[in-house]
Amino acid sequence: MGGPQYLTGDKASIEAFIDKFDVFLFDCDGVLWSGDHLFPKIPETIDMLRKKGKQLVFVTNNSTKSRGDYKKKFDGMGIQCSEDEVFGSSYSASIYISRILKLHAPKNKVYVLGESGVEQELDSENVPHIGGTDPSLRRDMEPEDFKTIASGEALDPDVAVVLTGLDYHPSYLKYALGMAYLRNGAKFLATNIDSSLPSAGTLFPGAGATSAPLIKASGQEPLALGKPSQAMMDAIEGKFQFDRKKACMVGDRLNTDIQFGIEGGLGGTLAVLTGVSQKEEFLAEGAKVVPSAYVDSLSDLLG
Ligand code: PLP
Ligand code: CA
Repeated sequence: MGGPQYLTGDKASIEAFIDKFDVFLFDCDGVLWSGDHLFPKIPETIDMLRKKGKQLVFVTNNSTKSRGDYKKKFDGMGIQCSEDEVFGSSYSASIYISRILKLHAPKNKVYVLGESGVEQELDSENVPHIGGTDPSLRRDMEPEDFKTIASGEALDPDVAVVLTGLDYHPSYLKYALGMAYLRNGAKFLATNIDSSLPSAGTLFPGAGATSAPLIKASGQEPLALGKPSQAMMDAIEGKFQFDRKKACMVGDRLNTDIQFGIEGGLGGTLAVLTGVSQKEEFLAEGAKVVPSAYVDSLSDLLG
């Protein structure tokens, strides 16, 4: 077994690699763009794959945006994409709740620690929810809150799930409510548990970091439904119906994207070096997560 194939600048190998697959699952941030900065020649690269008849799915762990929000982002970047081709971690979690957990009313509400992307995707699956962007929770914890949470007066008895995503407005009050629901037996889910997220050329706390206080306080680990969760892969396969051996996962992060593709038994994985992981990590002796191929940047596929 050789190491990963380096494709940049090798036109024949690039063509042979692309020809092996019918489906490309694309990570977004770190591959297509970094934050609001579009990498060079991305629309052209996506067009090239479409012209070759490839099916494309854009798979992101960013829970703060819904599929509709992502479609707008693609439009703004000038990348051709339909809302149906986007699959985010909030959508993945919503599908898991509605189609796997199949909660029954009245005890079917989700307490959200996260942003509007989570709420919109729960709405799309008709899952009732509380918390989230509710402005009444963006305040300090008052002495009275300790009493009403302890007595249960401040709690909704119909909450069956606590779902955490990245929350830009975390507060002690939100965590106290989340902990109370977990202590009352709610199931603990997370859209994703990425420790960090890249933005403006550096790293910021990710969903795993804003979920951490609840993990520590409750002593429970959430079931995470973004990459590399295979619940997400199963849901993607269920929606798009493809042969995993003819599919390739493209991503910048070894422990989410590349692991997601390898664990999912995909025919290939392609690491792109414009994001979080460095080639030294997978070229090192004894590296655990190794892609089948890598390029310096996605547009190298144009050859
Ligand atoms: N989570 C959040 C909140 C983000 O903003 C990002 C990147 O923008 C990510 C996760 C990682 O997204 P991706 O899986 O597209 O790299
Ligand atoms: Ca990424």
